[in-house]
Amino acid sequence: TDLDRIRNFSIVAHIDHGKSTLADRLIQLTGTVAERDMKAQLLDAMDIERERGITIKANSVRIEYPAKDGKTYILNLIDTPGHVDFAYEVSRSMQAVEGSLLVVDASQGVEAQTLANVYQAIDADHEIVPVLNKIDLPAAEPERVKENIEDVIGIDASDAVEISAKTGLGIPDVLEAIVHRLPAPKGDRDAPLKAMLVDSWYDSYLGVVVLIRVMDGVVKKGDQIKMMKTGATYKLDRLSVLKPQMVDIAELGPGEIGVFTASIKQVRDTKVGDTITHDKKPCAQALPGFKPSIPVVFCGLFPVDAADFEALRDAIEKLQLNDASFSAEMETSAALGFGFRCGFLGLLHLEVIRDRLEREYDLDLITTAPSVVFKLHMKDGEVIDLHNPADMPDLTYVDHIEEPRIKATIMVPDEYLGDVLKLCQDRRGIQMDLTYAGQRAMAVYDLPLSEVVFDFYDRLKSVTKGYASFDYSLIGYREDFLVKMSILVNDEPVDALSIMVHRDRAEARGRAMCEKLKDLIPRHMFKIPIQAAIGARVIARETLSAMRKDVTAKCYGGDATRKKKLLEKQKAGKKKMRQFGKVEIPQSAFIAALKMD
Ligand code: GDP
Ligand code: MG
Repeated sequence: TDLDRIRNFSIVAHIDHGKSTLADRLIQLTGTVAERDMKAQLLDAMDIERERGITIKANSVRIEYPAKDGKTYILNLIDTPGHVDFAYEVSRSMQAVEGSLLVVDASQGVEAQTLANVYQAIDADHEIVPVLNKIDLPAAEPERVKENIEDVIGIDASDAVEISAKTGLGIPDVLEAIVHRLPAPKGDRDAPLKAMLVDSWYDSYLGVVVLIRVMDGVVKKGDQIKMMKTGATYKLDRLSVLKPQMVDIAELGPGEIGVFTASIKQVRDTKVGDTITHDKKPCAQALPGFKPSIPVVFCGLFPVDAADFEALRDAIEKLQLNDASFSAEMETSAALGFGFRCGFLGLLHLEVIRDRLEREYDLDLITTAPSVVFKLHMKDGEVIDLHNPADMPDLTYVDHIEEPRIKATIMVPDEYLGDVLKLCQDRRGIQMDLTYAGQRAMAVYDLPLSEVVFDFYDRLKSVTKGYASFDYSLIGYREDFLVKMSILVNDEPVDALSIMVHRDRAEARGRAMCEKLKDLIPRHMFKIPIQAAIGARVIARETLSAMRKDVTAKCYGGDATRKKKLLEKQKAGKKKMRQFGKVEIPQSAFIAALKMD
């Protein structure tokens, strides 16, 4: 295809500003998908994505558009995830296109993720077309939001396209803007093949499917290709474009985006950002490539029923076929038995994986406290990455401990600013910047990641009634006074409840956890002490008193079926419990105990 008949773009937006709805409209209006096959949020394939309204895997669609100038253009949309945990996937897919539609809800204005995502587009040298969505809403204020875009982002918004993705108003203008305001790709058809590996995923019928963007040269079905980073060679079995279902194509030239299959065994064999070339006639230089995504949040996953361990191992292996950013290593816990220590890109990623394991593989899991990776600088000079507080060595061998810090950007209406600043302060934040755009404040904080991974986002939403938006990026490691706090239930340490905490906050956290556990652990026939300790020093203590009577006593003896029902109910409840010494702790306690109020 002629290069100037191609436009490649992505859509950047804050969550819920209408990116998926706009993508649907573009697909629908151009007849890419027959009307009867059209369903909402076409590109968000997984159930969890649909339910939670988030897009996880970047995906792409090829649209043919007969423009008003009489020519037909090929428009390739690469859809990018909007959530902070997946910022890295946003950045890599940006490298594969030349322009972005910046979608902003005209009743809301610029939010934290708008900002984070548009900066990625600017970094990738994109031409940017601002699009104001939801102008059908009575609360829409397109003029104010244009000013807001200019103030906060610093790009010209006077030519913003005003649309309603819901009603379809203005969608033809968006298509014309893509053609006339975004640049055509560049590339040399006669040069050796140079293509970017944008994404890959595992399909149970096709095996590994690889999404590529051709920069130079031409790739055809049957070609022998080479991945420059891994050095592996493959023969292309199948070459297609996504409409969004796979449609086979003879070749892909410069500027084009498509997928191939090549008997690749697992997603791990495809390095995102790698350069694909011909084995026999390679290009001289690889593309700059991307940095690999590194898991930053770790937690233990254990089956509630120890007999499910093999099933859990199986399920994890299957999920890893599709998600190379999620890591898992076998772990044994004194209390929980065999399980896995898993690493995730963030808390949402953790929840998504845990949900999928429980739902798609029908497993009941205990999730231990999420933890970040601490760097232990040992006295002998060695530096150890601590993924699990339970592995913390004796302090006498440790010189100092560093923890990861983030730069958090929070946008919030004026009236909630005080609460937001307090929350950040409470979480050991250091203010870096505070600015205003109209009625909204933008606070930038340097925060320890460990204070954010657990429930920061929930707290932020609750203190601002959902009006704050949040985005973060890692900025590095810094030394602080961190200690390991253990929890003892009935004098037995419960390793799955140990956490790393700042020395000055240990006592308050310890007290809060003991109080919570007292409510979360059911009464037993005996008294149970619950303690928090640093080393041998107990810093907080609660006592759960003994149960006075047999539970079945309240059935007044006579009614045998009621008694049986009650016992059955107890048994079902037990399935979600784990035994620690003589004490049973319900599964829900492991996460609930850590919530800070
Ligand atoms: P995304 O998170 O950016 O992909 O946002 P979605 O496309 O999922 O849209 C979020 C919500 O806004 C959904 O409930 C949509 O139905 C709604 N929505 C999207 N576009 C419009 C619009 O133009 N007008 C109105 N009133 N609602 C819209
Ligand atoms: Mg969406």
